[in-house]
Amino acid sequence: MQAIDTNNTKELVQSKWNKRPLIISGPCSAETEAQVLETAQRLAATGKVDLLRAGIWKPRTRPGSFEGIGTKGLPWMQQAKKATGLPITIEVATGKQVEDALHFDVDVLWIGARTTVNPFSVQEVADALRGVDVPVLIKNPINPDLELWIGAVERVAKAGIKQIGLIHRGFSAYGNTEYRNAPMWHLAIEMKRRNPGMMMINDPSHICGRRDILMDVAQKAIDLDFDGLIIESHIDPDNAWSDAKQQITPERLSEMLSEIVWRKEDS
Ligand code: PEP
Ligand code: MN
Repeated sequence: MQAIDTNNTKELVQSKWNKRPLIISGPCSAETEAQVLETAQRLAATGKVDLLRAGIWKPRTRPGSFEGIGTKGLPWMQQAKKATGLPITIEVATGKQVEDALHFDVDVLWIGARTTVNPFSVQEVADALRGVDVPVLIKNPINPDLELWIGAVERVAKAGIKQIGLIHRGFSAYGNTEYRNAPMWHLAIEMKRRNPGMMMINDPSHICGRRDILMDVAQKAIDLDFDGLIIESHIDPDNAWSDAKQQITPERLSEMLSEIVWRKEDS
């Protein structure tokens, strides 16, 4: 595996950002140093993953669940990057989290679905990004409101961020449905139409909430011309500290990526 100089990854990050399909994977949450490192190594060994993801601060719906390891997980991500050559991406929801992430050389930031719904929070993140050259991915808000999603894009763009991408992670609905978050594909398609040229990747993990239908959703996204996928993976999915039902091993991810029928120009 390639070891990299973490001070000079801008070019690598650029090439990954522009690659199609863009594949992001890693655990829902960073749990321990060993878990982050082993996940990164097993993902890198597949040769199919472009960016390593992990949640450091977890916005849990109810108190009492694991709310993330916090700042102490950032050096683990930095080490995983150094050891594997995979650039890293994490979720940020406050100005302080942006500062901490950049301090530990996080390459790509993402704004989560529970943050996109709150213009004050998005503005705080955007203000912390002023004068910074880092790519930012913006998840759709948890509720099916395209204007909020567009507003978040505009706030980040107005802060001077040039590289903005979108993540479609589905929309919450009351009551049991087949999906954890209904995909409402038409909204993602409309968002693409209104932001021509902006990359959009799909997050089957948070749409499905379970492993057995991940493949169908991922394939549908590729058939709809999405630019890539962000899929949660864990070395021991059943015992993950968050989102256990939807995570898959790095090896299962590799199989899944081989089974997907890609667009001709990407394969
Ligand atoms: C996550 O990616 O682990 C996450 C919390 O996602 P979302 O913001 O889509 O719920
Ligand atoms: Mn998750």
